[in-house]
Amino acid sequence: MSAVPPSRPAYHTASSQTEIEANLADIRQRIEAACQRAGRDPAEVRLLPVSKTVDESRIRMAYAAGCRLLGENKVQEAYGKWEQMADLTDLHWAVIGHLQTNKAKFVARFAQEFQALDNLRVAEALDRRLQEEGRSLDVFVQVNTSHEDSKFGLAPDQVLDFARALPAYSALKVRGLMTLALFSSDENHVRPCFVTLRTLRERLRQDAPQGADFAELSMGMSGDFEWAIEEGATTVRVGQAIFGSRALPDSYYWPEGASGEAARG
Ligand SMILES: *Cc1c(COP(=O)(O)O)cnc(C)c1O
Repeated sequence: MSAVPPSRPAYHTASSQTEIEANLADIRQRIEAACQRAGRDPAEVRLLPVSKTVDESRIRMAYAAGCRLLGENKVQEAYGKWEQMADLTDLHWAVIGHLQTNKAKFVARFAQEFQALDNLRVAEALDRRLQEEGRSLDVFVQVNTSHEDSKFGLAPDQVLDFARALPAYSALKVRGLMTLALFSSDENHVRPCFVTLRTLRERLRQDAPQGADFAELSMGMSGDFEWAIEEGATTVRVGQAIFGSRALPDSYYWPEGASGEAARG
């Protein structure tokens, strides 16, 4: 949709625990300021650090800096890190990227949270594997609020029916909705995505099936988390502003991204 990629801020690479701590402190301050502007309690907003492409040594620094839950968007990468850092028994993992049915077994084994649920075959595969593992999983339903073909997620008008089907999968603990906003530096283009997600939650609160609590709104990343908070985010997923710019092109993360470079920041 956005033909011209906005200029991308370069994030300095944090290569020590001190630098990671400083970035975390800075982001927490910005979260507080955004909450203040919106008349919200900062305790309502959870910061989910995103560690994709960040290697083990820097993840251990983040752990030392206090991080206990990290977001990863590729299952294989996340699973490998979980195995490498099994000694950090209280470090938990949130899978925030698209999942193929045949990889559900990995997520069922190690993840605390899965934020990109958008089809029932995956729900069913996850539930079956979780039952086998004797585990449960917090899930967020991903919604495509930017109407870009390149993005995963349900169309907003599909969410209600989808939500009604979820209580059948008892190992999935439904927490809320997740979205990636349009990638743009123009808040007039970005905020409507967040508003769409919030509006959907209000509808779900009236109509949602029993046992599905759609309280959470996971929205906002390094480039737009303050707008997301002003629009009601309860979880912001922040990677580059904590760890530094990623070396790999965004097409690595959104392989189907027709809009390529413009897909994400
Ligand atoms: C990478 C990623 C983020 C974080 O993006 P940053 O620009 O690093 O803050 C958030 N959500 C999802 C789904 C991601 O894949």
